[in-house]
Amino acid sequence: MKTYRIAAIPGDGIGGEVISAGVEVLQALAQREGRFGVTVDTFDWGGEYYKAHGRMMPENGRDLIRHHNAILFGSAGHPEIPDHVTLWGLRLAICQPFDQYANVRPTRVLPGITSPLRNVAGGELDWVIVRENSEGEYAGVGGRVHQGLPIEAATDVSMFTRAGVERIMRFAFRLAQSRPRKLLTVVTKSNAQRHAMVMWDEIATAVAAEFPDVAWDKMLVDAMTVRMVMKPQTLDTIVATNLHADILSDLAAALAGSLGIAPTANINPEGAFPSMFEPIHGSAFDITGKGIANPIGTFWSSVMLLDHLGEAAAARRLMAAIERVTGDTRFHTPDLGGRARTADVTAAVIDAIQGAND
Ligand code: ATP
Repeated sequence: MKTYRIAAIPGDGIGGEVISAGVEVLQALAQREGRFGVTVDTFDWGGEYYKAHGRMMPENGRDLIRHHNAILFGSAGHPEIPDHVTLWGLRLAICQPFDQYANVRPTRVLPGITSPLRNVAGGELDWVIVRENSEGEYAGVGGRVHQGLPIEAATDVSMFTRAGVERIMRFAFRLAQSRPRKLLTVVTKSNAQRHAMVMWDEIATAVAAEFPDVAWDKMLVDAMTVRMVMKPQTLDTIVATNLHADILSDLAAALAGSLGIAPTANINPEGAFPSMFEPIHGSAFDITGKGIANPIGTFWSSVMLLDHLGEAAAARRLMAAIERVTGDTRFHTPDLGGRARTADVTAAVIDAIQGAND
């Protein structure tokens, strides 16, 4: 029997609560399927690790997880440590060297969940946002000089390469092609950013020619926020730069009902490195330790993890269990207006996994 090795990195805040729920669910699923096993190695990297060791993960951290089949990540962020230190020291320190250049964020209004948009029924909001995850505004190019002096200067240079844009466009067109509507929206800002974003548009047009069966259009990022709210039915697959997609996907998560539901996958499509799966939300220190974090975002991320491993049947079973549980308001956590606790939702999903007999 095949056994998958998963590296779990709970990180900070509610990360610990939702990742242990996710691991429980993955174990229950493996048991129910009976065709594969899951072993989980947990790494205590994050803010507390930083306070003890002066860094977010050990120097050889990546070597410790390089040969795992996938990574399940919670959240990085600590009230006493600047956000750029936690982000660059852990999440980006894994994503970038592991070349997880495609960040995939599905958004759907699940059964039982109400979108804050009036008149939006379930099927009318079904998107996948593809975020370029290796360069652009997060390239890390820039610097700061003359700190504290009146002549202080600071730059963050967004850097786009032809190779980087081509590969994310191809990934997005392929993903759009695999979905029933075969529809892609390319988000841009080429009216104001007249170098990199113009190249971005040109490459989109060139790659589109390889996918004649995919209908596509181009949208300025500011107009895109309006379209997401006013005409959500007109969108399906969306591709955007690192920063644009970061912002749009938080909006998407809110429109789908809660930040606590949305999943994300950081994919290295070539399989040269493990891919990483994580809920879209952050550390949420306001609810940490209260036992009320919504674990659905982590469960849905686990669906993506299983799909990535090629375990499509297990992925479908878990997604069906999630939808059965969100459909029952007794299992809604406070972020969804309910009173359920993380443990209640986890137990209900495990029950649904065990009860499902498809
Ligand atoms: P970070 O700085 O790590 O991004 P944050 O607290 O600024 O963390 P989020 O963690 O994304 O931002 O959360 C924003 C708000 O959404 C939180 O205050 C929390 O109440 C709510 N929230 C986020 N995730 C969840 C969840 N899984 N379950 C319940 N509420 C959540």
